[in-house]
Amino acid sequence: MYAFNYHKPASLADAVAKLAAAPDAKLLAGGQTLVAAMKLRLAAPSDLVDLGAVNELRGVKVDGNSLVVGAMTTHAAVAASTDVRGKIPALAHLAEGIGDRMVRNAGTLGGSVANNDPAADYPAGLVGLGATVITQKRRIAADDFFRGMYETALEPGEIITGVSFPIPKRAGYVKFPNPASRYAIVGVFVAETGSGVRVAVTGAGPVVFRVPAMEKALSASFSADALKGIAVDVSSLNGDMHASAEYRAHLVPVIAKRAVEQALGR
Ligand SMILES: Cc1cc2nc3c(=O)[nH]c(=O)nc-3n(C[C@H](O)[C@H](O)[C@H](O)COP(=O)(O)OP(=O)(O)OC[C@H]3O[C@@H](n4cnc5c(N)ncnc54)[C@H](O)[C@@H]3O)c2cc1C
Repeated sequence: MYAFNYHKPASLADAVAKLAAAPDAKLLAGGQTLVAAMKLRLAAPSDLVDLGAVNELRGVKVDGNSLVVGAMTTHAAVAASTDVRGKIPALAHLAEGIGDRMVRNAGTLGGSVANNDPAADYPAGLVGLGATVITQKRRIAADDFFRGMYETALEPGEIITGVSFPIPKRAGYVKFPNPASRYAIVGVFVAETGSGVRVAVTGAGPVVFRVPAMEKALSASFSADALKGIAVDVSSLNGDMHASAEYRAHLVPVIAKRAVEQALGR
């Protein structure tokens, strides 16, 4: 690890100022990805702005028909939240399936969303629910936020403060996990929302994507049978040491059907 300057602001305003003051500064949330990258010298920020003491970025609030989750809320806190469990149980289920106990106690919603790992779970939850990413400057629809592998719509100096999740009529999230890390080889989030059915797939391609044919079929009939015969284009999927593109293409409809069954409470 290379040497760096360490800052621990106690307010969002101070964090914004510290981040702006050094062009090569990076935010530190749970450190589950960033610290490992720094140890391997894959990342060499001049300054680390630790958000750990910015308490205004933590917690879950009910806001009308939405749940607003602060960026520094850990996966364990999302999984344990009575509001999340009561209003969007599929999101609590998603959070409690991330990594292991240590990763869930340190890793945060904001860190996961900003990192945009192609196999991360939250991108499917955000796109599947039609969520909105909130920064100190603006609100960005999840559909526009996840741009490519590890690439988002965030601009330099922008800090995610939270995510607003519309409460769906029903939703389900199922993943086929990598047995070592628990990252999704394929994960599918299905939701019936006030503005229609949404199906979001993570792990299969370079970035989370929706499946319009599945959304159309489920809008007509919200049942696992409605997905019969719907396939995804294998040419746009990832193949790696864990699974070929063909295997991922096979998994998408299988996992999507299970997510629908979960949404139906079966
Ligand atoms: C062994 C292991 C297993 C894992 N398994 C899974 C899994 O099954 N599913 C899954 O989804 N994830 C998994 N993860 C990822 C983990 O859950 C974290 O979500 C992820 O590492 C990033 O969150 P973090 O809070 O640790 O962020 P950090 O590592 O601190 O930061 C990550 C990046 O986000 C930026 N950042 C952090 N907070 C903000 C913010 N508020 N605004 C803007 N930018 C910000 C940082 O500058 C950095 O670039 C795993 C990680 C490990 C180490």
